[in-house]
Amino acid sequence: MRIGIIGLLHESNTFLGRPTMLADFEHQTLLEGEAVSGHFAGSHHEIGGFFTALEAFIEAGEPVEIVPVFAARALPSGTIEAAAWSELVRRMLEALHAAGPLDGLLVAPHGATVSESFPDADGHWLTQLRERLGPEIPIVGTLDPHANLSPAMAAACDALIAYRTNPHLDQHARGEEAARLLVRTLRGEIRPRMHAVFPPLAINIERQMTDEPHLRPLYELADEQRTRPGVLTNSILLGFPYADVPEMGSSVIAVTDGDPVLAESLANELADAMWQRREEFVGRMIGIDQALDRCSQLEGPICLLDMGDNVGGGSAADGAFLARALHERRLNASFVCLYDPEAVQAAERTGIGQELEMSLGGRSGVHYGDEPLRGRFRIQSLHDGRFQEPEVRHGGYREFDQGRTALVVSEHGLTVMLTSKRMVPFSLQQLVSCGLDPSRFRILVAKGVNAPLAAYREVCPNFIRVNTPGPTTAEMTLLEFHHRRRPLFPFEPDTSFATRSG
Ligand SMILES: [Zn+2]
Repeated sequence: MRIGIIGLLHESNTFLGRPTMLADFEHQTLLEGEAVSGHFAGSHHEIGGFFTALEAFIEAGEPVEIVPVFAARALPSGTIEAAAWSELVRRMLEALHAAGPLDGLLVAPHGATVSESFPDADGHWLTQLRERLGPEIPIVGTLDPHANLSPAMAAACDALIAYRTNPHLDQHARGEEAARLLVRTLRGEIRPRMHAVFPPLAINIERQMTDEPHLRPLYELADEQRTRPGVLTNSILLGFPYADVPEMGSSVIAVTDGDPVLAESLANELADAMWQRREEFVGRMIGIDQALDRCSQLEGPICLLDMGDNVGGGSAADGAFLARALHERRLNASFVCLYDPEAVQAAERTGIGQELEMSLGGRSGVHYGDEPLRGRFRIQSLHDGRFQEPEVRHGGYREFDQGRTALVVSEHGLTVMLTSKRMVPFSLQQLVSCGLDPSRFRILVAKGVNAPLAAYREVCPNFIRVNTPGPTTAEMTLLEFHHRRRPLFPFEPDTSFATRSG
């Protein structure tokens, strides 16, 4: 059995002005054929999980042939430009044609991809695949739980399986699960029947950590459902709030063996349980001053999560609200990372050990009231900005490249890492590779909400999610939506919902 592998992953923040271009994929991941296996086989990513499971079948003597077809991935950023999207889909379909006849296909969409031309971009490319392959060839895929699932995505696939953790630590396991489900389908052992339900609910980003008490019971119900007879898998989609599209919000999926009625009743049960907890999914907001006041009572290092500049949610990585507050309060032994290629160049020109009046970050968010951090800084060290993460961390990344990097320190002991490329705070190797010991800081700023915890909880006993302004503000009711579905809780607090079972 010839099994194709296709990945096309992008989390698109439609509230950002700058569109995502083909070059953004070329700079990160844009691969065809065997190059896909070279990049992903052995990685913590779900596509790595596809390879692991299929290779195990081959070793066991199963007549499986792995056909790597296409993989594209770019860091979360703005809506994908129309021509870039056409080109990505064209290359993918060409690679599919070149791959020859397939018996089954494994797909890895993110689920929150938006293009200018096709707002439901994942629905678009998956539908294109279904049309090419016809109704008989099974398509099984994975999803990021930040997916804004659409009916078109569900209709195009036989089964979709979302990661069950945020931070995402089970990507590889879900990839393996998808591959095993596809092989069992091809052997004729099972017939997946999928049902998705879309309760009118958006879960605040601040409430999306899966092992916190407000989400735990929902995942426990999902786990219990999977032990029932006839159930193959199920998924909870938390949703991605920074996309102004009709499918923005939460959803659930159940997949059974040949029983569409059971799939519908399981999905309804999950949707009802999610809906009943909706008040707990409204974000809790702590402002900058309140957060810094709280720091004095907590054991360090304390990680301040900069929710308004959530790089993994597509933001610019140069938000300086927390950096300025730490500087003004002279909170020493603090660390913050800012994307600022010009400041890196200034530091390089000045040289290690020298001092310089600098103006750092704060450029992209002027319309949110941001401004640069200004002050006198000593250039501590300069780096090439490349590092590796050997452990399983959010996103399944292994190699990182944040470009030329400078470390500068204020007279009060605020350490600022300046990068030449936007970088997600998913690895402490970002600090360690530049000679910093994260455990020696009192306060570490991480530009994210939940994802940084996978790395930072190794050294930080305390975390505070800070409601900073910016394009990824946690106050989603402040975002100006034109296309989201209505009514939707909590935007319309009186929204009602009942499934047939509820
Ligand atoms: Zn995610």
